[in-house]
Amino acid sequence: MGTTPGTTTKFDVIVVGAGPAGSASAYLLAKAGFKVVMIERGRGAGSKELYGGKIYAAPLREVWPELDKEAPIHRWVTQEKLSIVSGDRITTIDFKLGKGVAFTTYLTEMARWMANKAVEAGALLVDEIVVDEIVRKDGKVVGVRSGPDTLYADYVIDAEGVNRKLLEKLGLVEKINPDTVALGVKEVLKVGESAINERFALENGEGLAWLLAGDITRGIPGGGFIYTMKDTVSIGLVLHIGKALEAANSGELKESVPSLVESLRLHPYFKRFWRDADVMEYGAHMTIEGGLRFMPKKLYLPGLLVVGDAAGFLLNTGYTIRGVDYAVYSGKLAAETIIEAHDNGGPTEENMAKYEKKVKDSFIYKELYKHRGIESVMSDPLFFKQLPALLNKVLSKLYEADYEEPTMMEAFLDSLREENLSLTRLMFKLLSVVRKL
Ligand SMILES: Cc1cc2nc3c(=O)[nH]c(=O)nc-3n(C[C@H](O)[C@H](O)[C@H](O)COP(=O)(O)OP(=O)(O)OC[C@H]3O[C@@H](n4cnc5c(N)ncnc54)[C@H](O)[C@@H]3O)c2cc1C
Repeated sequence: MGTTPGTTTKFDVIVVGAGPAGSASAYLLAKAGFKVVMIERGRGAGSKELYGGKIYAAPLREVWPELDKEAPIHRWVTQEKLSIVSGDRITTIDFKLGKGVAFTTYLTEMARWMANKAVEAGALLVDEIVVDEIVRKDGKVVGVRSGPDTLYADYVIDAEGVNRKLLEKLGLVEKINPDTVALGVKEVLKVGESAINERFALENGEGLAWLLAGDITRGIPGGGFIYTMKDTVSIGLVLHIGKALEAANSGELKESVPSLVESLRLHPYFKRFWRDADVMEYGAHMTIEGGLRFMPKKLYLPGLLVVGDAAGFLLNTGYTIRGVDYAVYSGKLAAETIIEAHDNGGPTEENMAKYEKKVKDSFIYKELYKHRGIESVMSDPLFFKQLPALLNKVLSKLYEADYEEPTMMEAFLDSLREENLSLTRLMFKLLSVVRKL
């Protein structure tokens, strides 16, 4: 790849952010012979990362076929659980699946592995540098500025994640709206490998992904998660920021967000899984709530491509969260676009537009489109508050009758009445939920 003669600071590609999206594109481009630099504000790749715990493997294998052998995989998910919680009444769906679909790991470790792969392929990683601005000249992106320094490149990949300060400055996205983002808070509990295996009924190397809905979020749209790592358990909550702020301002939410996670840790049912465990780490990170609503007006400009969370590529259906694999796959599509553009006219508007077409033809956009509107369903109190209460009430009437047991229909109709729900409204809402899930 050619850089401009006489300059030492000109790269073929600058990647802003060494998260999964940035590292995937940097790896593929460096492997193809491009002169690539990744600029990361944290100390080393991964240091600013926080997520839940489960990553789908197939899209990652397309970038790193050696993933299963080399990546820092903690456990292969062999058990998926979804629990509906109302106080100490809990209904759980438990699904056993085969190994190889998804795995648990810390994102800090995984992001470091991905960035190292890019470095081994020849990319340069410059850390502890914050990019302040994406630089444009004559309508084309030509580089990035950090403080007084400007670095030039033919192509810039924006992989800055959910905050999108740089895209905001470029006018590609609005300032973050609290209704399109959620706050994730997490604790890592030191339980020990054999205790995890025993308490969660797992064999060595097998893992559990457990999502929780219901009143653990105290009426705020969102949910909880439990993931088993090798010898630790990650637990946490994801809460709709706009609604959490509203509830805090109106006095409806009296607890702080950290104390909600503590309540999950101390929950009479769940606490048995990590009894006597110490909290090793605690953290919080913003994530996307808005699905397609979070996508920028355009995913490209001449010389610029937007990938990963910055592009809004995250799917949260309530029973699964997919962000890392979407980020990696979009990084792959961006790298392919640049490789094709390089021999066909360079970073022109037309060439960069091909990235958006690739995204729209891929599973990323198709899935986001198919599930569009899911966030409005999930922030409907009927879905995250009344339905969980209804389900547990029906089951409680069926299983907790001392003498006379109601029929299922009686239990259902009584519970509907107690929850002030009409059958027609419920059927209508359920239909709309099922269509979006
Ligand atoms: C609580 C929570 C739970 C989640 N659970 C899951 C899950 O279980 N499974 C899953 O697949 N996904 C999950 N996600 C989503 C997943 O974490 C993201 O989709 C994924 O990390 C996106 O990757 P990315 O590379 O686009 O962005 P990021 O991982 O956010 O990486 C962006 C990088 O850019 C750097 N950066 C930002 N701005 C600048 C700048 N100006 N200059 C230099 N560097 C900069 C950051 O430091 C960071 O390293 C979860 C997210 C949260 C918050």
